[in-house]
Amino acid sequence: MSRPTVYIETYGCQMNVSDSELMYGSLAAHGYEAVDTPDGADVILVNTCAIRDHAEQRVLGRLGELRRHMKKGTVMGVAGCMAQRLGPTLLEKARHVSLVVGPDGYRALPQLLEGARSGERTTATSFDLEEHYEDFAPRRFDKVKAWIPVQRGCDYRCTYCIVPYTRGAERSRRLDDVVREVEQVVRDGMSEVVLLGQTVNSYDDGTHDFATLLRAVGRVDGVRRIRFTSPHPNDFSDAVIAAMAEVPQVCEHVHLPMQSGSSRVLKRMLRRYTREGYRDCVARLRAAIPSLNLTTDVIVGFPGETDADFEETLSLVQEIGYEDAYTFKFSLREGTPAERMRPEEFVADEVASERLDRLIAVVRGGARERNLRLLGTRHEVLVEKAARRGEMLQGRTRDFKTVMLPPDGVAIGEYHTVELTGTTGSTFTGAVVRDVPARRPLPVAGAPAPAR
Ligand code: SF4
Repeated sequence: MSRPTVYIETYGCQMNVSDSELMYGSLAAHGYEAVDTPDGADVILVNTCAIRDHAEQRVLGRLGELRRHMKKGTVMGVAGCMAQRLGPTLLEKARHVSLVVGPDGYRALPQLLEGARSGERTTATSFDLEEHYEDFAPRRFDKVKAWIPVQRGCDYRCTYCIVPYTRGAERSRRLDDVVREVEQVVRDGMSEVVLLGQTVNSYDDGTHDFATLLRAVGRVDGVRRIRFTSPHPNDFSDAVIAAMAEVPQVCEHVHLPMQSGSSRVLKRMLRRYTREGYRDCVARLRAAIPSLNLTTDVIVGFPGETDADFEETLSLVQEIGYEDAYTFKFSLREGTPAERMRPEEFVADEVASERLDRLIAVVRGGARERNLRLLGTRHEVLVEKAARRGEMLQGRTRDFKTVMLPPDGVAIGEYHTVELTGTTGSTFTGAVVRDVPARRPLPVAGAPAPAR
């Protein structure tokens, strides 16, 4: 008898990508075969994001589209943060969905699917604060870098954010378990690890902090690059910064969410730092790691944000000089404290849109100016994948710049010293100038269902 097939489509953050890898691994252990198209799959799962209304609307639309790929007996399930947030109402909104499972429910996924395949319609959205999926063997599609969840949930309560309500309270995996997983991914041929957590640098397994974790991962033989995402500015202790500076594998890039440059808005967001506090964090990081590159997240149009507040955001963005920024208009999420803000404080959409355009122009302009100055410099590049368009391969410098390389004599998984020869303003083209000892080349393989 042929094995049942499963297709998972992933939306949202890297934590969801990692969770999809866990689900694929668990289902493979229960006899399922992963397929890279929804057409006729026995199980279609959509792993969702709830961070913005737009993301949820997109998923609802996609659930409708996916219906035509279902054959008789196909089970359609919704996983992730939107599943957690909407629970049984999703079963009402989409009659062809028979399973709704939140981020803490994946252990029971094989049994839940069995029930769904025999006609049950189920919701599984209980929190489980002990759940780390330690014993799961993820099925990884990225053959170059490994996403390693080290922490789940969040104890901050930023007033705009739905995550504490969809992923529950913060809990950290045991350091030994993380190190064991890192050793395994090195045995599997990967040399870059990305440690994942909602506020990853607040990692605390009861005995070890994030600084100790960085040092422990750095001691694993064969690890050549360590990244982490996303940190909270308040959790960069001196010990964490010292570990970043002293562990040679820790890359010179931090994604440091800023959200606003105005202390007044930051207070209303309950970010628990001020403009000065954020600036101080950047200064401490840069003093310890002078070549550090920063990227960030910024929300514009938060309720009560005035023109003057927004100007403060622009000036801080200019002052810090980010390499890139994820920029968003505020999106009100039901159930978050922002819902209690006064209606008259909400910023008109056209005002927020205009601010967003100005912010994007400032981020891009600054990055372009700095990137032009880098032409002719040399960097270590890890070749990660085939570029979306054309014949080129795509890689990253240690400080997170994207570089396109011609494929001649270059393979995915290799490290090369590359001279930057051109830039679009945000990404680079490069030429290999001198080979450094390379690892075994890997075949060009795409993940069946990349995050959207
Ligand atoms: S730190 Fe704030 S923005 Fe980040 S996940 Fe927690 S509540 Fe959300």
